[in-house]
Amino acid sequence: MASGSHESSTSTGNRGVGNSGQPPEGSGRVLTQNIAGAKSVGDFISTTLGPCGMDKLLLDTDDAEEGLSEYFEVTNNGAYLLKRVPFQSPGARVVARVAAAQEERCGDGTTTTAIYASEILRAVEPLLEQGIHPSTIVSGVDFAIEVATEALRDESQAVSINDSEQLQSIAKTAIQGKTADAIVETLSEWAVDAVQTLATDEEDGVQVNTDLVQVESLRAGTLSDTELIDGMVLKKSFAGTYEPTELQNPTIAIVTEGIARAETIRHRLSSDSNSSTQEVEYGLSDPKSVEAFAEYEIEHVTELLDPLVAADVDVVLVGDRVEDELLPHFDDAEIAVVRNARAGRMKKVARATGATINKHLREFTPDDVGETAQLEWRRYPAIEQNAILFWGGAGEQVVSVLAHGSTWMSGWELERNVMNAIQSVSLTVEHDGIVPGGGAIETTIARRLRTTASTVGDRRSLVIEAVADAIEGIPKALTRNAGMDTIQTITSLRAAHSNGTKTTGVLSDERTVGEVVESGILEPAESKRYGLEAAGSVATTILRIDDLIVSNDSSN
Ligand code: ADP
Ligand code: MG
Repeated sequence: MASGSHESSTSTGNRGVGNSGQPPEGSGRVLTQNIAGAKSVGDFISTTLGPCGMDKLLLDTDDAEEGLSEYFEVTNNGAYLLKRVPFQSPGARVVARVAAAQEERCGDGTTTTAIYASEILRAVEPLLEQGIHPSTIVSGVDFAIEVATEALRDESQAVSINDSEQLQSIAKTAIQGKTADAIVETLSEWAVDAVQTLATDEEDGVQVNTDLVQVESLRAGTLSDTELIDGMVLKKSFAGTYEPTELQNPTIAIVTEGIARAETIRHRLSSDSNSSTQEVEYGLSDPKSVEAFAEYEIEHVTELLDPLVAADVDVVLVGDRVEDELLPHFDDAEIAVVRNARAGRMKKVARATGATINKHLREFTPDDVGETAQLEWRRYPAIEQNAILFWGGAGEQVVSVLAHGSTWMSGWELERNVMNAIQSVSLTVEHDGIVPGGGAIETTIARRLRTTASTVGDRRSLVIEAVADAIEGIPKALTRNAGMDTIQTITSLRAAHSNGTKTTGVLSDERTVGEVVESGILEPAESKRYGLEAAGSVATTILRIDDLIVSNDSSN
């Protein structure tokens, strides 16, 4: 992807001071370039904001110029886009990183936070040009963010974890315009269901372990075939010929190391001090020894399998290879083998089923066995894929979303969106607060900032006003993206808020200004708080940089 086209500034200003021996240029130049980079990120990302936001097409760089790329993705996920686009300018990269931080912490609100940051810098730029010192601006921005988060706290409404309707609105607001309309409702219900299932009451309030949510996508079927599974999904087949399609209350053993035939040789060598490698090699060319060895192998495998059979294990999950020649032994014992399982998945299965992960099968004891209520093995012949589903378990509650989609692209995008919805709902219940979306909360914050600015007697009042303009960048972008008249919309939003209706915002679908709470456009207050603080700190970081050193140190 050509990054230059998104940036009004390139990194030509990077000066290796130690390199060139040139005297440093004026600090203003670096700052101007960083601000230009930050603004370019805002320009690039703001067209994706909200349900009417546009998507971006990401092409793999290989052959992209000829338009030959096989690999492409359509997305409007802010954090993902900013991760994938190789911005050159340091200012742009710092802003792009704030979206990643937002994603990591809140799951959603990534585009918003990147817009906050770039708009703050855009809004204070004229003040710099007027000669106001960056440090005055930094202090003004810090103060404005404090005022903004205070306004946010005042407007935040508590919500009960049992209030499924409000929570579904949160989920819907997070995924609307990003997920096919037909399944927004269902996915939102699941997101709430998943969070309510996973929530635990801790000393310091409700906690939701979203680590225990798994989203898998399959190219089979259509989006509306997507399912919520009260358990785990492994996109795997069974290795042997014993392939149960359904098991009730199956038990599971998990080992990380592979199981190989060569090991029987090693095992024999270590247990029989009279043999040597040579002896075994020669021995195997002698038919009698081969027979003896085969017997020994059976003996050895039986030794490995006996404890599994005794513990009535139905499935063995192995983190590495299991040699084909050994599989019949497992088949005979009616133990289904899943090999080459990913470490992360094995850990999750262990948590869900209560199994203890062993390094090698030899270490298995009956106490290590995990239990689950039901197992199902499904084939999807059209895409040559299989999936093993475990429902319920003796361990922790795990919830999976098995997303279906007709292309990988929609599957991936769906995975991200499902996680966004779940994270937004869990953030809401963990921090117990919702605010009106559709730019309503930003309009309230901007109004509070302007009122505060009028009471501050020094130059910081100009900065606070600038931050108010920047925060209003959200309703502006929503308006622009919905094809509405920006000036007219912002004017009527401000008028409604000055008349006391703080829940007036942009109704993107209707392309009008109206009551957002009634329309179910709600957002987690915590996501906004984190976003405002992160954006403020990114803006002030950039404002404090007056020089740019290109390091010679290759270890960097
Ligand atoms: P982000 O990455 O910041 O979450 P989104 O593209 O998801 O960006 O857009 C989020 C913004 O869209 C929020 O301000 C939210 O309130 C707003 N929004 C969501 N649904 C609607 C809607 N139906 N009408 C107006 N605004 C909406
Ligand atoms: Mg969003």
